Parts: sequence; C-alpha cells; structure tokens
Amino acid sequence: MPGRLRQDQPRVYNIAIIGSGLGGLSAAVALRRAGHNVTIYERYDFGGEVGASLSVASNGSRLLQEWDVDIKAAKPVILRSLIMHDWSSGQVTSTYDLGDYRAKFGTDYNNFHRIDIHNLLKQTAIQDAGKGSPCKLETWHKAVEVDPEAGSVLFENGNTITADAVICADGIRSVSREQIGVVPHFVASTSCCYRCIISADKLKELGLEEYLNNNAIEFWGGFGINKIVLSACSDNNVVSCYCFYPSELNNVREDGWNISTTPENLVATFPNLDPKLHKLFMHSEDIKMWRLYNHDEYAYWTNAKCTLLGDAAHPMVPDQSQGACMAIEDAGALGIIFGPKYSHIGVQDKLKLYERARKARATKVQTASARARTDLSERIGWSSSTDKPGKLTIEEICGYDMHAHIAQLVQDSQLSTHTLPPASVEVAVGA
Ligand SMILES: Cc1cc2nc3c(=O)[nH]c(=O)nc-3n(C[C@H](O)[C@H](O)[C@H](O)COP(=O)(O)OP(=O)(O)OC[C@H]3O[C@@H](n4cnc5c(N)ncnc54)[C@H](O)[C@@H]3O)c2cc1C
Repeated sequence: MPGRLRQDQPRVYNIAIIGSGLGGLSAAVALRRAGHNVTIYERYDFGGEVGASLSVASNGSRLLQEWDVDIKAAKPVILRSLIMHDWSSGQVTSTYDLGDYRAKFGTDYNNFHRIDIHNLLKQTAIQDAGKGSPCKLETWHKAVEVDPEAGSVLFENGNTITADAVICADGIRSVSREQIGVVPHFVASTSCCYRCIISADKLKELGLEEYLNNNAIEFWGGFGINKIVLSACSDNNVVSCYCFYPSELNNVREDGWNISTTPENLVATFPNLDPKLHKLFMHSEDIKMWRLYNHDEYAYWTNAKCTLLGDAAHPMVPDQSQGACMAIEDAGALGIIFGPKYSHIGVQDKLKLYERARKARATKVQTASARARTDLSERIGWSSSTDKPGKLTIEEICGYDMHAHIAQLVQDSQLSTHTLPPASVEVAVGA
C-alpha cells in the first residue's frame, strides 16, 4: 500500500553532499536542521585540514550561532582589532579598532584553528544531539560522475547513489563542477603563499609573546604582492602566519597543501622584513606553500538537481578572509530555502533560488578579494566606500540579513505564488 502524505507537511528530502570541507559540513548542519536526510560523501578519511588560522566574521559566525554550534568548543580567539606594521621596522603604523563589533553585528569576530572548527562542524553534523536527524558521513567515496538530471553520483569505489538534490562541495578543483557542465576559466595568480605556525611556548621562549595576546589580525606590507598576515588562534595557544610572495620566486607548479619548505627559505623570501618576524619564522613549524588562482565567475551553479557550494562555486584568493564565510553563507541560504517557510517551492526551483540569492554576492566578494590581493585598502575593515565607491565594506559583509534577502527574492519572483494544492489534499507516495 502506498503511504499517505498530507501536503501541508513539509517534505523530507534525501540530500547528498559531495565533500566534507567547511562548506560541505556547514551545508550538512543547515540541511539536517531544516528537516532533511543528509548524507555527506568524502573522498578521503580526513586529515586533510591544515593547521592554520581561519577568521570567521559575523556573517559566518551568525549562522554558526543560529545552528547552535558550540562556538566556544572550537577555542576561538575573539578579534578586537586589525593592526598594520611597518614592513622593515615592525612599528605599528595604524590600528582599526573593532570595538563595538558584537554590539553592531550580533556576534564576535572569531579566529579559529582550522582543524578545531572543522572537527566541531563534523561533530555537529553527525551527532545525535541537535535539531533534525544526524547526517550520515561516508568516507572513501570519491565522486567521479554526476548526472544532474537523475540526481545520481557514481563513486570511484563503484557505489552509485541517487538523491533528491546533490550539493557539490568538493572544493576549488571540483570534479562535479565539470560534471554538471560548468567550465572554469582561471589563471594562476602572480602570488604564492607560505603558511607557518608556531606554539605559544616557543613564542614565550623567544620573547615574542606580544603576538599571542593582541587578539588581532596583524599585517606587514599588503601594498604590492608581499604581505604577512599573523594571528593567534586556539585559545591563544598557536600563532599562524600567511606570507604572500611573488610566484616567480620559485614558480611552483604543484597544487595542494603539502609542499613544504625550510625556515631558511621562508626568511630568504622576505630579506628586508621586520627582524622579529625573521626570528619567528626561523623557529616556526610545518611550513607549507601553495599556489593561488584567480577564477572568473562561473556561468551558472545549478543544473537540474545539482548545485555548487563553497570553493567549488566561487573560489577566491584569501585576501578578504571570506572564502569559508561565503561557504557558510551558501549553507545558510540552503538551510533557509529548504526550511519550512519555503516548503511550497519544488527542489529544482529551490536550487535556482539558492543560486539567485548567492551568486552575485559571492562574486562581489571574489572580485574584491582579487583586488585586495595587492591592495590592503580594499580589505574589509581597512576599506570604506567613502574613499572609493564600489569597495566592499564591513557593513555590507557583516551586517547582511540573509533571511530578508531571500524573502525579498521569493516575493519578487513567481515563486511566492507557486503554491501546492490546498492543505487538505493528500497524495500517494512510495510504492
Ligand atoms: C591561505 C588561506 C587562508 C584562508 N583564510 C580564510 C579566512 O581567514 N576566513 C575565511 O572565511 N576563509 C579563508 N580561506 C578560505 C577557506 O579556507 C575556503 O574558502 C574554504 O575552506 C572552502 O571550503 P570548501 O568546503 O568549499 O572546500 P574544501 O575545504 O576544499 O573542501 C572540499 C572537500 O571535498 C573533498 N573532495 C574533493 N573532491 C572530492 C570528490 N571528487 N569526491 C568526494 N569528496 C571530494 C575534499 O577532500 C575536501 O574535504 C582561506 C583560504 C586560504 C587558502
């Protein structure tokens, strides 16, 4: 006998997410809370997240808060200011005080260790506690083929699945992106970046504890390619540095996070830099290097039952510290659109609405990140629309009201009138 479903009850969808990075896990949390059955497929068995800082401004933190993520468990450092140093002497040349940030934007500006926030999101997605049903996580499932019309995914291990919606969150080198017909146009940036970390104990031993307790993102350079970005994370127990330099210096062609170098190389890359940073670099651990890429906006994100999310949709250079925040926003938009308020909208329209809500905003941040690569005055916090119209501002990023934006889009489109039959009608489901 077929089951009976009253159509005034929101439908529960089976949703597949490809990739369990920060974007895929955020989407999993948002969609389980919206009442759906979510399975995440990850090609590896983790260990891929890198030890480095990740600042999550209030546009991301607000959603984490909304999803009852136990932010404190990820040991954030709460950022209080942005500090600019002279490249050679290290003297502070200016400070942007974030002072009333929480009062203004509703959350703290959190600086996480990437591994801490990744673990916390994974836990929040799969644990029993919390709203909705726990998500399933399938590791060693590398997606190799995606059929957007069927909503099916073939994995390298031979398994195939079919879902009502497939969220492709498989990162900057997404395979599923091409499978849904999106051809990326991108060029290698003229910049590369080293990342290194150093422990609190080591900094104290070196007499450099000043970097531990400033609760700030600190910058050297940033006008031109060279830039150092330093911040503390993990309850002030780790300091992480991103060090941008011209790619022509070593012209690395490999991709990925596992290209190591020596402290001597790191120091030699920045000959006239603040001697205190040279000292820090010489004692830092686990120095990694990676290439940066500039991707053009993609023609579309959604094809039938599939859509892109996070770096798979809008990879950006890291100079606005907004890549993960945009992935969290993508997840937030899916959570709202798949939530009870919009249950009258069909899946494919939901995915189109998601693209409409997200693409222009994420692209604006993507292009502003590219500009900020060599011009720190374009970075939110340092930028103001009054000094150059069109600049991305902290107000438009951190003060964004996603619920109102989506409600407006629905109202302006025909989706607000695209309703189901009257609530008393029942339909047959199942076989
Ligand atoms: C140096 C640097 C600093 C940054 N700092 C910040 C910051 O301070 N603040 C901020 O908001 N953002 C920051 N970002 C950006 C942020 O890290 C990324 O935007 C974000 O991590 C992207 O998450 P994602 O889940 O979309 O992609 P990823 O993290 O790349 O995750 C993709 C996942 O998909 C899996 N996968 C890939 N292919 C397949 C497949 N075929 N099948 C199954 N699984 C697959 C991968 O193993 C991985 O787990 C920074 C980025 C860099 C490079």
